[in-house]
Amino acid sequence: MAGQKTAILSVYDKTGLLDLAKGLHDQGVRLLASGGTAKMIRQANFPVEDVSAITKAPEMLGGRVKTLHPAVHGGILARNLESDSKDLSANSIDKIDFVVCNLYPFSETIARINVTIPEAVEEIDIGGVTLLRAAAKNHARVTIISDPKDYHDFLTEIKNDGEVSEKSRQKYALKAFEQTAAYDNAISDFFRKKYAGDGDQQLPLRYGANPHQKPATVYVERSRLPFKVLCGAPGYINLLDALNAWPLVQELSKALDYPAAASFKHVSPAGAAIGVPLNEEERKAYMVDDIEGIESSSLAQAYARARGADRMSSFGDVIALSDEVDVPTAKIIGREVSDGVIAPKYTDEALEILKKKKGGKYLVLQMDPDFVPGPEETRSVFGITLRQHRNDAKISPADTFNTIITPKISGPLPEVALRDLTVATIALKYTQSNSVCYALNGQVIGLGAGQQSRIHCTRLAGDKADNWWMRFHERTLNLKWKKGTKRPSKSNAIDLLCSGLVPETGIEREDFESNFEEGQVPQIFSPEERKAWLEKLDGVAVSSDAFFPFIDNVFRAARSGVKYIAAPTGSQNDGAVFETAEKLGITFVEQHIRLFHH
Ligand code: 5GP
Repeated sequence: MAGQKTAILSVYDKTGLLDLAKGLHDQGVRLLASGGTAKMIRQANFPVEDVSAITKAPEMLGGRVKTLHPAVHGGILARNLESDSKDLSANSIDKIDFVVCNLYPFSETIARINVTIPEAVEEIDIGGVTLLRAAAKNHARVTIISDPKDYHDFLTEIKNDGEVSEKSRQKYALKAFEQTAAYDNAISDFFRKKYAGDGDQQLPLRYGANPHQKPATVYVERSRLPFKVLCGAPGYINLLDALNAWPLVQELSKALDYPAAASFKHVSPAGAAIGVPLNEEERKAYMVDDIEGIESSSLAQAYARARGADRMSSFGDVIALSDEVDVPTAKIIGREVSDGVIAPKYTDEALEILKKKKGGKYLVLQMDPDFVPGPEETRSVFGITLRQHRNDAKISPADTFNTIITPKISGPLPEVALRDLTVATIALKYTQSNSVCYALNGQVIGLGAGQQSRIHCTRLAGDKADNWWMRFHERTLNLKWKKGTKRPSKSNAIDLLCSGLVPETGIEREDFESNFEEGQVPQIFSPEERKAWLEKLDGVAVSSDAFFPFIDNVFRAARSGVKYIAAPTGSQNDGAVFETAEKLGITFVEQHIRLFHH
């Protein structure tokens, strides 16, 4: 029939097939179909030819080769070009206008329990994927229908207009490309699990964020995981912590040219620091005064500071360390309650110490320090994919804090202020937003994470900074613990004492007192004592991951000895914020990069 259109049908899911065949037949379309598809159409008494009518070759290899033939693919791929038409007629091939195809159920097959590799292999559709790709590639002329849900609209369009519009062909082509992409993903995922081997490229995880979230895995495509598991088995949240903590310490160390450490909990730092030497009081407050060799290990001092920022929050942390882990660092970690560590290297002796932790189950990850992630990151939430350029903004003491807004006449910031603003700002880059961070002596001293309002971050972080400072009061430094009191109990009691939350009476009071030697229970800090001691906190640097919308944040910061604030600007209240900082003697630096992190 002159001008007759031709369709090839090859579908595993035969839903709606007969309605489609009838509709196409009514429009005078010639129907060609592969074995099972042709059989069903024929049984319903619609005229259909086997694909072999044009290939002159039988289906073979038990169905592995059905439509893979130049008569099919030449007919699909030919453009409206004279040269293509010449090729077709030289080989007696007719053009194909419509392709209807859906694929063997690979995903359904591998979802079956105990499926074997040969069973899965047989469900890898070859010809169907080729039909989809070929027809989608040539969508300038050919229509590819890959979803039974589209049959109705497709038929309606042919019936009404006699052809399929360019727009519809584009839409159907995109759907077909997505179908082959998803199909190939399912296949590569299956074989990654089977063949990637030894945790090189993927690792099964016990579960996801919660025990009922199974299965769970971590993997990379086309390359190796950039970390090795030297001990233990990582959990999902361990990895979220480790993979946020590692870039934090790597950046911090590079920015300040010091070994750096971070102590993470629930995907935010509880502390982060560089290895500024510890003085005697700090060694005592951070419970590392008995660690041999600590004074000659910058890394150990960095971790003592990171862990010491907020010891209560660091309970059960995941640690990141920028440099090779040595014995003093391993010794500190060895006696703290911790879940795991990530670092570029470990000395043999340090690794032995860590491997003994948690009955041999302590998580030790070795990170490739040269690994650079791709420019884009993707995540899926509620079945929907979001993609963004990775936050690769660079924070450095030399370039990030040069826009001093107040005081109006001011030279460059002192080096310690630049250092502490760098620590606070890099910590925020890896903290769940909103976030505000107070830093001093090269370490975080208070970090408010994940609050919906900025002032709550500023208060939370300020209260933590106050609590940290109260730990340096001589009364706290000289507590007389009852023999056998464990480190976590000490940290909890200190936190209660320093927060001013010890009750006067009751069982909570008794519990607090039970940590101390008879007659040695510390006096609670009076409001005057607190005030007098907190007034001595000075020179603190604060960074904020976004602008301060109200002046209350500056008021709160000033109460904890803050002398430097770095924050993005852009609030309607900027003017008032700057003015308040000026009145309170705080240097306000515009930090140009917003640092929301989720
Ligand atoms: P039917 O039920 O018509 O025999 O087979 C339809 C299925 O075969 C469709 O899912 C289609 O994707 C697939 N198919 C079409 N051509 C080929 C081929 O040449 N090789 C393989 N392995 N599958 C094909």
